[in-house]
Amino acid sequence: MKVLKFGGKSLADKESIQAVVQIIQDKIKNGEKITVVLSARGKTTDELEEILQKASKNEPYKEQLEAFKKYQKEGFSNVSFDEEFEVLDKLFEGVSLLGDHSKRIKDQVLSQGEVISAKLLTHVLKEKNIKANFTDSRDLIITDAQFGDAQPLDKLSKENVVSHFQEYDAATVHIVTGFIASNTKNETTTLGRNGSNYTAALLANYLDADELQNFTHVNGIYTADPELVPSAKKIAKLSFIEANELAYFGANVLHAKTIIPLIEKNIPLRILNTFDHEGEGTLITSKASEKGIKSLSVLENVALINLEGRGLLGKVGVDARIFRVLAHKNISVSIISQGSSERGIGFVVEADRAKDAKQVLEQEFESDFYTRDVSGITIEENVSVISIIGQDLSTFHKPYNALIKNQVVPLLFNNTVTGKNVSLVVRKNQLHKALNVIHGEIFEISKKINIAIFGHGLVGGTLIDQILKSAEGIENRKKIELNIFAVANSRKVLFDTNGINASWKSDLETLGVSYKIEDVIRFADEHHLENLIVVDNTASEAFTKNYIQLVEHGFDLVSSNKVANTLSFEFYKQLRAKLQENQKQYLYETNVGAGLPLIDTIKLLHLSGENITRIKGVFSGSLSYLFNTFSVEERPFSEVLQEAIDQGFTEPDPREDLCGNDVGRKLLILARELDLSNEFDDVKIHNLIPEGLRDGSAKEFLERLEELNSTYQKAKTEQEPNHVLRYIGDLWGDLSQEKGSLDVKLVSVPQSSALGQVKGSDSIFEIYTESYGDQPIVIQGAGAGAAVTARGVFGDILRLTEKG
Ligand code: ASP
Ligand code: MG
Repeated sequence: MKVLKFGGKSLADKESIQAVVQIIQDKIKNGEKITVVLSARGKTTDELEEILQKASKNEPYKEQLEAFKKYQKEGFSNVSFDEEFEVLDKLFEGVSLLGDHSKRIKDQVLSQGEVISAKLLTHVLKEKNIKANFTDSRDLIITDAQFGDAQPLDKLSKENVVSHFQEYDAATVHIVTGFIASNTKNETTTLGRNGSNYTAALLANYLDADELQNFTHVNGIYTADPELVPSAKKIAKLSFIEANELAYFGANVLHAKTIIPLIEKNIPLRILNTFDHEGEGTLITSKASEKGIKSLSVLENVALINLEGRGLLGKVGVDARIFRVLAHKNISVSIISQGSSERGIGFVVEADRAKDAKQVLEQEFESDFYTRDVSGITIEENVSVISIIGQDLSTFHKPYNALIKNQVVPLLFNNTVTGKNVSLVVRKNQLHKALNVIHGEIFEISKKINIAIFGHGLVGGTLIDQILKSAEGIENRKKIELNIFAVANSRKVLFDTNGINASWKSDLETLGVSYKIEDVIRFADEHHLENLIVVDNTASEAFTKNYIQLVEHGFDLVSSNKVANTLSFEFYKQLRAKLQENQKQYLYETNVGAGLPLIDTIKLLHLSGENITRIKGVFSGSLSYLFNTFSVEERPFSEVLQEAIDQGFTEPDPREDLCGNDVGRKLLILARELDLSNEFDDVKIHNLIPEGLRDGSAKEFLERLEELNSTYQKAKTEQEPNHVLRYIGDLWGDLSQEKGSLDVKLVSVPQSSALGQVKGSDSIFEIYTESYGDQPIVIQGAGAGAAVTARGVFGDILRLTEKG
């Protein structure tokens, strides 16, 4: 036989009751033998308690009582509860006259909730021709006289139950009131709040049931509350001991005493959903799961109290005094943390008791305040407790580091010595984020990376498309979920917590809103987004002004934008200091040589102590093309330049390339990688534009390209044989000093040299180091173009996800 228990939420209204009836009908159709235990409907017990309170304080209660009656009858006009209502009327009237009530009376009041509920369901089932039998558990379960929290007398109760069930044939379905019982004097008692679970467990035990099925409004026990943690997973199977740990920390379907009758007879307990009962739910048995179960639970409505004082060091009996006065006030303490230096002690109490706690402690420690042994007692109100069940300290660094990286700093934490359990107190406004971060870490389910992308020109747009295209594969292979929660240009931003999709471009136009950077920060904050990255694909100096603020708000940075690295050295250092302070990263591999792994290589060499003595190369793809072509073809310079312009190899105004500033910036970025403190002004740049053509409009310049011919024809012909022209960046000098020499210049090199052999629009970098001597490390390849640059940016994003 199976015992089915339905909780208040499963019986709250007519539709819910239909669902319950359906479940019972299906079971009967399947030939299953069942017994049903019910709670009171919806919030009935709370309501009755409230009305009772009012009555005993002589406050008006009748209106609420009428509403209560109406609720119970609603939709079931053909069932009569006259008897139960009359009992309630009389009880409340008496209490109101007396201005007081005993626990005994309270149990009589509350018991009506379960009676009404069982009576109702019996009636509905009978209408469907099911052989249902209303069973008042007060005739069966006999307890001691501890009203409100009565203990069953097992032997008596069992005899009653067994003989009651023997009286009826096997087809009868008993609809049993949960929660309520009676003492040996035949007075109504109750088994404590949520006690119907206990009733069901007792029946299962007495009747040697095959399974207890507890129907709730959730699909089972989860690794965390799915409403707070969308990636929470249902736990298919766990042991009673594990379940007990969970139950202790707030999963209210289970109570330790409920579990005992089941363990005793080895009866499995299944948690199911009344409203979605096709699932298997969660099965709880005596067998421990192999890997151990982990789950997160939360305690809310708590406050953290901190008692501080230097004078407490070495004093005997301080803790005893604290707990004595708290116990005296009936204030329970859930989490305690105390340093070995005894400088202070922090502990968690229920929020609505915090003020009381502070008050009694202040009284108790009054003289210690006077002697300054105690310096303060403070309450931190908006806190929550997260317990990681199944977590021991050996791997605790993982969730802990992830929290810190996400700027969640726990106020306090402690662990249990036996059993595995670590609890953290966090600020309430960080609860959501903290839970998701910890959950992602301990379950190694996909770690969600939340990305905001600024700039969606060629590089930015390509990057977004690359990410959207590869996201699924990356999630499968690396367990990393790339979620672009914002895309912005200089005017508008498009937000989507669940990530933008392929239609982002038109969505940005239609749904985008104008913004300031604070709005993006606030959005991430309000939606509790974790693992934040900002990608800067603009070329804007204005945007780089946001970097520090972003870092301070927990964003890592990736940029193809070079500007931030070429502003003053002062800013360069300041940004790095901020990054360090906030444990954030800034990656910009594409600043030099696009996707080529140049910066990372230089960083590594430098970090490992390798002395880099010189870096030389063709840094610009457009100028590479220009001189590679001009050097080997018998054509005027202007013609080759025009071709480069036409093919989109240069900026729309080619002077931006020809002036050499871009190469200069790249060179400066590399110098700074080597800890040189050069400024942009230190870079000696050979400007390829003749003086007279530097000002004026782009159009004008484009019309006068031929004026460049004589200069470059001359340079070409004056070379030694088998030489070619290259426009290079050169970092040289004694690089162990504070500053190096930075030159950007047009040079003539042997065609057979590494520089001389560069083709097309390739970039080339020669890195000379002490160990490698005359043989430089050479990195060569496509050093420009939207696709390779976007790939490089993508690479930086992935690098960040790995570091976390
Ligand atoms: N109706 C009682 C309560 O609300 C018992 C139960 O629901 O299990 O506590
Ligand atoms: Mg690069």
